[in-house]
Amino acid sequence: MSAPAGHAAAVPGVHDVIVVGGGPAGSTTGAFLARAGRRVLLFEREPFPRFHVGESLLPATLPILERMGALATVAERGFQVKYGATFHDQESDFQRTFYFLTNKPWPSYSYQVRRADFDALLLEHAAKHGVDVRQRATVESVAFDADGVSVSARRDGLPITARARFLVDASGRDGLIATKLGHRERIPNLGKVALFAHFRGAGRLPGRDEGNIFIYVFQDGWFWWIPLANDLTSLGCVMHARTVRGWPGQLDELYAEMIRRCPRVAHRLVGGERVTEIHRVANFSYMNEPLVGDRFLAVGDAIAFVDPIFSIGVHIAMQTGELAARAVDRALEDGRFMAARFAPYQRTVERGLGPLFRFIHKYYEPAFFEVFLRPKTRWVLEAVLSVLSGGTFMRMGWGTRLALAVLFAAARMNLWARRRAGRPVESRLEW
Ligand SMILES: Cc1cc2nc3c(=O)[nH]c(=O)nc-3n(C[C@H](O)[C@H](O)[C@H](O)COP(=O)(O)OP(=O)(O)OC[C@H]3O[C@@H](n4cnc5c(N)ncnc54)[C@H](O)[C@@H]3O)c2cc1C
Repeated sequence: MSAPAGHAAAVPGVHDVIVVGGGPAGSTTGAFLARAGRRVLLFEREPFPRFHVGESLLPATLPILERMGALATVAERGFQVKYGATFHDQESDFQRTFYFLTNKPWPSYSYQVRRADFDALLLEHAAKHGVDVRQRATVESVAFDADGVSVSARRDGLPITARARFLVDASGRDGLIATKLGHRERIPNLGKVALFAHFRGAGRLPGRDEGNIFIYVFQDGWFWWIPLANDLTSLGCVMHARTVRGWPGQLDELYAEMIRRCPRVAHRLVGGERVTEIHRVANFSYMNEPLVGDRFLAVGDAIAFVDPIFSIGVHIAMQTGELAARAVDRALEDGRFMAARFAPYQRTVERGLGPLFRFIHKYYEPAFFEVFLRPKTRWVLEAVLSVLSGGTFMRMGWGTRLALAVLFAAARMNLWARRRAGRPVESRLEW
């Protein structure tokens, strides 16, 4: 029923939670809360399935899918299975494949997914478990008071209002709460641009390696090569915003030029045909504030996003979604919603993100990258693989932490050795 002109249609009743955004973070939070018996209303701006960047998943995400009851559906969908990640350094022509380990609390594989399909599956799963999903509905404002939160949205041009006891910001890079009530800090050196497209008929490896993600590091930045199911390949080039600003021609010419400058990619692409337009995402590194507040918290990209190099975004989205659902469910239980009670959630999130952010910054230093590709012992290799699998949100044992400290110490020694040998040591963050 539509509202009379000038009046907003109200979603009836007071919900326990309103979730803004139906990406992996929002669907996960919603699904866990609904499974706990909470009344959840979710607003999503886009009609799903919708295109999204970020197609390579990590092994540690699979137990989350299992706990939310979605793993069997994901497994049946025929996504490309991924057993490892291969890094190639053009400077030294060195290549290393990391295979996920079998002795961990997560499986030794994950999936490469078309996000349009994966995100739609998760949102449908949330709806199946009772989340009231409203698509093509954009939240425009939120107002908090002593008893709850009032949300104003717009769907097909018509205003809607809704009321809940709590709000979860899962609005991704839009960062609804940070934009309206806090602030977003851009990370200047990580001012990057990604150009990417899908290809059909590009080179595939045989057997277990078919689904490996490849990261090709070259002078102007790096490429991701993600083999998807049905002979599709996602190829993205990440470069410094300066490179794009200084490019006089069209973006597709720049994309083609970068492929030309990275012969490994150019070679594998022979015979491949581009089947999508070239997409562009810019300036994707930021930290948002606040993460928690009275009657709200943020999950996924609405918290922060630093760099796609380790394919960790969907894992962070779903892991924070699960943790948030637990914290919100407890708050609903005892009716207390002050920011302070969500401090443990904030600490757990920051503890999980810390090692990742450290790794990402170090990764751009050639001295670190060199030792990262050549772990000297099985012990250090396992620690690196824990991070690459998405294990940082679980308590890392002292052995893993010590191994990472050894890796960082080896990188410092390598820095000194490279300097003495007159080899480049500047961080490639300045790409
Ligand atoms: C170049 C690049 C490459 C990447 N590669 C990978 C990768 O290989 N693997 C990986 O795991 N991650 C990758 N990521 C990161 C990953 O895409 C994100 O971290 C992930 O999508 C975050 O999920 P989310 O649910 O927080 O946000 P999103 O998936 O962005 O979902 C947010 C949703 O909120 C909706 N929304 C926003 N504002 C409103 C509003 N006001 N009202 C209603 N709805 C709203 C949006 O429509 C959107 O659907 C990459 C990111 C970039 C930039």
